[in-house]
Amino acid sequence: MTQTSQPRHYDVAVIGAGSAGLQAALTLGRMRRDVVVFSTDRFRNDPAEHMQNFLGHDGESPAELRLAARKDLERYGTVELVERAVVAVEGAPDAFVVAVDGSPDVTARRVLLATGLSDELPDVPGLADLFGTVVAHCPYCHGHELADRRVGLLGAGPHVPMLAQLISRLASEVVVLTNGAEPEPAVLAAIKALRLELHTGPVLGVEAAGDGLRALLGQDHAVELGGMFVAPTWRQAAPFAEQLGLETGELGGVLVDIMGATSRPGVYAAGDLAHHRDLPMPMASVLTAAAAGLVAGAACDRDLAMADLARVVTMT
Ligand SMILES: Cc1cc2nc3c(=O)[nH]c(=O)nc-3n(C[C@H](O)[C@H](O)[C@H](O)COP(=O)(O)OP(=O)(O)OC[C@H]3O[C@@H](n4cnc5c(N)ncnc54)[C@H](O)[C@@H]3O)c2cc1C
Repeated sequence: MTQTSQPRHYDVAVIGAGSAGLQAALTLGRMRRDVVVFSTDRFRNDPAEHMQNFLGHDGESPAELRLAARKDLERYGTVELVERAVVAVEGAPDAFVVAVDGSPDVTARRVLLATGLSDELPDVPGLADLFGTVVAHCPYCHGHELADRRVGLLGAGPHVPMLAQLISRLASEVVVLTNGAEPEPAVLAAIKALRLELHTGPVLGVEAAGDGLRALLGQDHAVELGGMFVAPTWRQAAPFAEQLGLETGELGGVLVDIMGATSRPGVYAAGDLAHHRDLPMPMASVLTAAAAGLVAGAACDRDLAMADLARVVTMT
């Protein structure tokens, strides 16, 4: 992070321009904060062409929503969008240093992380190709699209009974494929109580079949499905939580308070990467990410205003 000329200084550096980062920038721009927003060209919902469960935009393209949001930002002259990856963040309130790939560092009074998560899928050949269409992870985003169909649940973990219960309201049949794993007795008992079709052998691969998919179980045995739910492992999409030593929860989310403040003064987080302590999991959706961006943006703005007010009051 060394450079010869003076780095450009901002009120807030927002890292990430998905719905969380763009909404945070909108909130801050409307308060005439000098904001820089960094983004790469990768978004968590890249595999999906449609975005469900967002009022007024149900079923629309997530890319188009981001485009419209960027257009909104053009009205606010203090917001700058930079299409470059951030590689490192360090520092303290009023003097954070943000190192940018291929461009000079910038400094900022506050940092707002909105870099999202990435999904690591179970190691089943063909799964990644179908993720975002007939393979999904969230019943609230994709369940309704698989209504009245035979839906598979991949895995044997403790999430299976609850997911089966949720999906049973929509699917014509729920089929559990444990992919070779042995379910715990409580999970097995629930599968039996719910009278779900159960396959315990390894899934050798999945492939598109008609408007659904086929799970290949070996010895010429295959299960035809309209869709499938999987439980990806979530990873932070960027290294900043680790670099800044932020407190994270069991599921890897950056722990935040209700206003989006992290464990480190001056650093806020919003969207999929953040996890509010009182919630059972990160509430990962486009709308909740945008809402968290608004709240964290406002919290940043108030934090700056309070610091400035304290300075003025002390001087008089
Ligand atoms: C397949 C799939 C389908 C989904 N469908 C739906 C749906 O139908 N409805 C719904 O509500 N939700 C859906 N979701 C969830 C939704 O995608 C997320 O909740 C939402 O995108 C979170 O927004 P975000 O702003 O937190 O992160 P993202 O949208 O992932 O944005 C992250 C931002 O951080 C940037 N970034 C990351 N690293 C760096 C770096 N080093 N430097 C600079 N920038 C960086 C990225 O470029 C990007 O701009 C789906 C998710 C998946 C995986």
